[in-house]
Amino acid sequence: MFKIGCHLSTSKGYEHMGKEILSLGGNTFQFFTRNPRGGSAKAIDEADVKAFIELAKGNGIDVILAHAPYTLNACSADESTRTFAKETMADDLVRMEYTPGNLYNFHPGSHVKQGVDVGIDYIAAMLNEVLKPEQTTTVLLETMAGKGTEIGRSFEELRAIIDKVELKDHMGVCLDTCHVYDAGYDIVNDLDGVLTHFDEVIGLDRLRAIHMNDSKNPFESHKDRHEKIGEGSIGFDAMVRIINHPKLKHLPFFLETPNELEGYAKEIAMLKDAYQE
Ligand code: FE
Ligand code: FE
Ligand code: ZN
Repeated sequence: MFKIGCHLSTSKGYEHMGKEILSLGGNTFQFFTRNPRGGSAKAIDEADVKAFIELAKGNGIDVILAHAPYTLNACSADESTRTFAKETMADDLVRMEYTPGNLYNFHPGSHVKQGVDVGIDYIAAMLNEVLKPEQTTTVLLETMAGKGTEIGRSFEELRAIIDKVELKDHMGVCLDTCHVYDAGYDIVNDLDGVLTHFDEVIGLDRLRAIHMNDSKNPFESHKDRHEKIGEGSIGFDAMVRIINHPKLKHLPFFLETPNELEGYAKEIAMLKDAYQE
């Protein structure tokens, strides 16, 4: 079954997001665990979570993806920023256990002037503090466009982080189509080659989710500007090959395109139409 959805606003709770994605024609969604700029999260409403789990069961919502605030920087040179990242993620992972067995994605971070190796050490150190053996959530590193000093611009950098994490079973990767294309992986002309390389470096078994975004900029721009599906440099045909690729088609796909709900519904319908069961 095709798992497709989009990013939704968290403000009205889990059950509302569940109903909303069903009304848009999807069966999975991404949401921020709290205000994307950080800060404290609303307390979990247990009745809301219970209602969502019931709704999900009856309507084929098998998996959801939480996204950490994008201001989180686990490899900042500033200790208080690193501490904030660690405390936020630890709190998010406790909250995630109310909806067991799902996915939690984060941007590895920006090393600024410290260098990639120092950055990777900080990120792995944070993960080694916050991951718990008993957790049921898989934590995903997102592939990044390589804007500024972002870590995660190459598959090798993500592998280096995972190598230093003790509880590797709780780790996976979320591939963002706009970001990898921007980073210099040619998913338009050589999708098979990119996936073979991913498999050699990280292992395709670690790939757990796809962010489906077209790109406003040409190949290898390192800019990270998402575009609507089919309206950017990646193009609709390449998107169709991605959702139907035998090594990807079982994964959940999440739109993070510049759209209101109506636009998301259109893109979900377009992709459902192009998906071959
Ligand atoms: Fe992201
Ligand atoms: Fe993304
Ligand atoms: Zn992005």
